[in-house]
Amino acid sequence: MSHDPDRLAWLRGDEFSCVEPAVSRERRYRLVLLGPPGVGKGTQAKMLCERMGTCHLSTGDLFRANEGTEDASPAMAAALDAMHRGELVSDDLVMSMLRERSNCLRCSGGFVLDGIPRTLAQAESLEKTLGDLGVELDAVISYDLPLDEVVNRFSGRRTCSSCKAVYHLTANPPQAAGICDDCGGELMQRDDDQPETIRVRMHAYTAATQPLVQYYSERDKLVSIDGHGRPEEIADRTLAALKKHMAVESF
Ligand code: AMP
Repeated sequence: MSHDPDRLAWLRGDEFSCVEPAVSRERRYRLVLLGPPGVGKGTQAKMLCERMGTCHLSTGDLFRANEGTEDASPAMAAALDAMHRGELVSDDLVMSMLRERSNCLRCSGGFVLDGIPRTLAQAESLEKTLGDLGVELDAVISYDLPLDEVVNRFSGRRTCSSCKAVYHLTANPPQAAGICDDCGGELMQRDDDQPETIRVRMHAYTAATQPLVQYYSERDKLVSIDGHGRPEEIADRTLAALKKHMAVESF
C-alpha cells in the first residue's frame, strides 16, 4: 500500500490537522528508533512506515520545519539555536512539544518516534506521557554501528529542502543528482551535518542517549539491529527482528 502521510499535526503543532493522515489500522504499531546520528534512522523510519502503515514522528524534522517561520516562539528560536550548534535542545522544551502533540501519539495509524527520547529524563517523561494516554510501546529499535563509520556516512548525506526525504550520495542516491525523487525539491547538506557540529552531536549521543539502550533493555522493549549494509537490507533485518519480538506473522 502506498503510504505518505503529510505529518502536518506533528510538524506544525496540534492546531493543524493532517490533510493526508496515516491510514487507520486494526493493529497499530508504536516504535521508537535509537542509534547514533547518521546511522540512517531517518531512512529506516521512512521504510518501516511504508511497510507498517505508521507515521514518522521525527523531532529533528519538527525543528527543521520551524526554521525560517516568522511566528516561531522564543522557545522554538532557542531550540533552533541549540540545534545549529549541534547541542541537544532542553528536555523541558522537547517534552512540552511532545505533549502538545499527544494526538500524534494516539494516532490510529501508529507511529515511529525518531530522535526522541534522547536522554534518560526524556525516556522517563515519555513513559509517563504514554501511560497517561493509555498507549504502550511495542518495541525500541537500536541501530548499532561503530562511531568512526557513522562519521564517514555524514559526508554523503543529503536532505530534501522541501519534503525532508533523506538520501545518501552512494548508499541511497536520488535518480537525478541534487533533486528529490519524491517531490523534485533541491537536495541540501544540513547545517548540523558539518564536521565540527558532528563532533558535538557525537559527544551528546554518547553521553546522553546511549544509556537508553540499557533503560529499554531492562523493560524488555529493546530490539538491537546491526546497522551495516544497504538501507533495504537493514530494513529487512529490522522487520524480521520485529516480527519475532512482537510475535507477528506479517506487517
Ligand atoms: P536529528 O535530525 O534527530 O539528528 O535532530 C537534529 C537536532 O535536533 C539534534 O542534533 C538536536 O539539536 C535536536 N533534537 C532533536 N531531537 C531532540 C531531542 N529529543 N532532544 C534534544 N534535542 C533534540
